[in-house]
Amino acid sequence: MLERIVLTAAIALGLYGFVQPIAVRLRAIGRAHGGFIADQPWRRTARFVWDVLLQGTVIAQRPFAGLMHALVFWGFIAFIPVTLDHFARGYGAALLGRGLLYSVLTKTIAVMAVAVIVGMTALAWRRFVVRPPALGKLSLESGLVALLIEVLMITYLLDIFALTDHTTMIAHINWWLHAISILAFLWLIPRSKHLHLVLSPITTYLKDFELARIRPLDFEKEEFGASKLSDLSAHTALGAMTCVECGRCFDHCPATSTGKLLDPKQLMLDLREGFLKNPAQPIVGETVPEEIFWQCTTCGACTYQCPVGIDQIVPILETRRGMVAEGKAPHTFNTFFGNLERLQNPWAYPTPQAHEFIRDNGYPSFDGHEYLYWMGCLARFDVNYRKVSLSFKQILDTAGVSYGVLADEQCTGDAARRAGNEYLFTELASANVNLLNSAKVKKIVATCPHCVRTISEYKDFGLDADVEIIHHTQLISELVGAGKITLKDNGEGIDTPVYHDPCYLSRYGRKGDIDNPRRVLQAATGHAPLEPERTRDKSFCCGAGGAMIFAEETQGTRINRERTTELLATGAQSIAVGCPFCQIMIRDATNDLGKGDTVKVQDVAQFVAGRLG
Ligand code: SF4
Ligand code: SF4
Repeated sequence: MLERIVLTAAIALGLYGFVQPIAVRLRAIGRAHGGFIADQPWRRTARFVWDVLLQGTVIAQRPFAGLMHALVFWGFIAFIPVTLDHFARGYGAALLGRGLLYSVLTKTIAVMAVAVIVGMTALAWRRFVVRPPALGKLSLESGLVALLIEVLMITYLLDIFALTDHTTMIAHINWWLHAISILAFLWLIPRSKHLHLVLSPITTYLKDFELARIRPLDFEKEEFGASKLSDLSAHTALGAMTCVECGRCFDHCPATSTGKLLDPKQLMLDLREGFLKNPAQPIVGETVPEEIFWQCTTCGACTYQCPVGIDQIVPILETRRGMVAEGKAPHTFNTFFGNLERLQNPWAYPTPQAHEFIRDNGYPSFDGHEYLYWMGCLARFDVNYRKVSLSFKQILDTAGVSYGVLADEQCTGDAARRAGNEYLFTELASANVNLLNSAKVKKIVATCPHCVRTISEYKDFGLDADVEIIHHTQLISELVGAGKITLKDNGEGIDTPVYHDPCYLSRYGRKGDIDNPRRVLQAATGHAPLEPERTRDKSFCCGAGGAMIFAEETQGTRINRERTTELLATGAQSIAVGCPFCQIMIRDATNDLGKGDTVKVQDVAQFVAGRLG
């Protein structure tokens, strides 16, 4: 009897230790802004099955560590029924009976226990012996958790195979050791990064389908962006509580790896600490140093890699909005904001220059054509990038594509939005949405991935939901595939370029956006393009996104330099790009590195136009 009283007290203590800190965290999440979006339940469920139950993405991204993690996770799930049975035994009950079902189940789970021991040992080896920098400082909790898991598995195996006579003292001690380990584990979970066991299935289910999706502000309700922690979205607060401190975001962040203060992992940990301390606390300064908010290129590498569905970009952008509303944007941003307000392009070109270029080069005016070719500011004004536009026009004309342009298009407002100036962005978006809707546009093709993404965001501002927006490499790939353009002599004698994946195509875009440019380059040059070390969806940013093209990069090494050095290390004599920002940044870096005269930086469309038969 006394033993059962002790057991009941221990269980109550374990459950209290588990529930109480979770309640504190849920209360903090509840104080954040807005609710959660759980639309498209079937699509969310399918993703949940793949990402959580099958651990598909984790294994695909890091096969060995992912598989070891999956073994531990699957072991946990398998252990739920035998754990309940274990405690029931303490009260003389047999939840799973003691017949064939019990025998088969416990032996099967014994196999899982061995798998968990293998997985846990490998993960502990990595954390405590290999110690990759991304994992940060050693923590006592992680050591304790690893130890407890090993004890749980060993005591379970002893119970099933060695101490089958449960009436002996040693079997009894083994039973208590197993029970206490479980209860201690319950205490530890919510007090450590292992809380992700509870929260990550929820965070993953609720994760947005779009990377870095920010909601429009409702100015009438006096929404101006985040200044206190509680102004950040509930999903950000949930994410901060969920962070498993794996450091994948740290590993892939171009700002972190070029020596800047921004570290997306530390950002989430600082937000978590702030939320737990006081959700009414200011974000900038008291919770997170101000400069980190102006170092993010919104490249998406952190969010794309995060195994538990955290979007680190959203709090950065929400905080930028708050700072812009308080007049705290960097001074260089104020210049391009002013240009956008006065001339509707960030580079301060007068509009008639675009009209002249369009007229002189015979771009058809859009009038119910199949495609609207959205030119974007650089194609309309910049002397160098106009060459890309003319190449693309040549391809469209050769293939007989039905297309036109709208001479009065304004900047999409990509940089204004990413810089946090939502008011200015809303003005530009509204003007462009009116233009697109009145022209009854159905399909849009753009050479700039930032335009593609930003126009897709116009659906929150009244653009017809059926409008299709694609990148020019997709259209060119389709034209090549359909035989609508033929390319001269299979590219013989042409140097094989290295291809740089733009972040806004490889991570923000669709799956085909990674292969289309490669397919096109293969057709144009006769060879698959060379691949830099970080490529495809793990591509390393050029440094321009998130309005950073307008910022002064004063800390650490320049991102475009690091990327260009990596591209040049392939030995290529030309660099193929698919984004105007990338072209500027990489061309600048080739000049800085003394390679400007020998290495050409060209858009995929220029490779094709040069080979048109
Ligand atoms: S979006 Fe890119 S630059 Fe910004 S924090 Fe994430 S990885 Fe770093
Ligand atoms: S934010 Fe995501 S990727 Fe970064 S450390 Fe936390 S769990 Fe890992």
